[in-house]
Amino acid sequence: MPRKCIVCGKDSVVFIPYARAAFCREHFISFYERRILKTLKKAKFDGGRVLVGVSGGKDSMALIYALNRLSGELNIDIFTVHIDLGIYDYSKVSREIVENEMSRIGVKYEIVNVRDYLGVTIPEAVKKVRRPACSVCGIVKRWILNKIAYDNSYEYIATGHNIDDVSTYFLKALFTQRVEDLMRGHDIITPPNLEYRMIGRIRPQVYLSERENQLYCIFNDIPFVKDVCPLARGALLHKYKRLWEDILQLNPIAQINLTKTIMKLREKIPQEKVDLQKCKICGFATTSKDGICAFCKLKLRIAEER
Ligand code: SF4
Ligand code: ZN
Ligand code: ZN
Repeated sequence: MPRKCIVCGKDSVVFIPYARAAFCREHFISFYERRILKTLKKAKFDGGRVLVGVSGGKDSMALIYALNRLSGELNIDIFTVHIDLGIYDYSKVSREIVENEMSRIGVKYEIVNVRDYLGVTIPEAVKKVRRPACSVCGIVKRWILNKIAYDNSYEYIATGHNIDDVSTYFLKALFTQRVEDLMRGHDIITPPNLEYRMIGRIRPQVYLSERENQLYCIFNDIPFVKDVCPLARGALLHKYKRLWEDILQLNPIAQINLTKTIMKLREKIPQEKVDLQKCKICGFATTSKDGICAFCKLKLRIAEER
């Protein structure tokens, strides 16, 4: 016998172990959206102009869809940017999905090309600098989104970090003594620091899982890219991610608890001041001792290799 939805009593289509609750389609959608709303409200987010980087994957497609639905309650004005990374067919498919879906749901969007900022595509950059693709790609995407948001007076960039990513990042940091990784990043809100041209961040899906994001897309008929990026390698983080399978059997709320524990500990420990400066080349913030940000260093390396 299927379990019954805890809200309306109809047959359920999904069971969420950490909430110990089964839902029908409609009530899972409202559970998901309430969770985003609660996460942001609890972190005292009071709205503003928000830029959402949408890759076309399930996390960012669920994010833009939910933020669009909640824009009134969250008091936000949203705008989407998709960066065409030039990763062969994978990028073509991603771009098409984002273009079609943003037009369909009526969200303002812009497609930008990584070449216009970096001079080359991501696969070309990776070949030239011989560094892991995701690290190159991450630096480039962060810089481009921050620049677009800064140039267009956006106050926040919404990112699609989910509980699987965040809890695994913390788990790895604990297992490898990376105390500095435990102390920084992944807050639900990072306020803007305009003196250093740093746009604020919001992470509305921090307490939602990849599975929940995927279900939200499926139940809302939102298309998303199903292919895996051909440049993605079995990163070490993915190996740590697998550890959760057994832990979650034992305690379904373990990921959320670990993340909340670390967030609470951080509030009790005075944060070390980071030494920010303006990049000598682009003017955006960097912590690098030589005053050149990671993005500009990458561009310089690519130019040397031409
Ligand atoms: Fe970029 Fe890595 Fe994501 Fe591919 S998997 S889009 S290289 S970050
Ligand atoms: Zn129901
Ligand atoms: Zn720079």
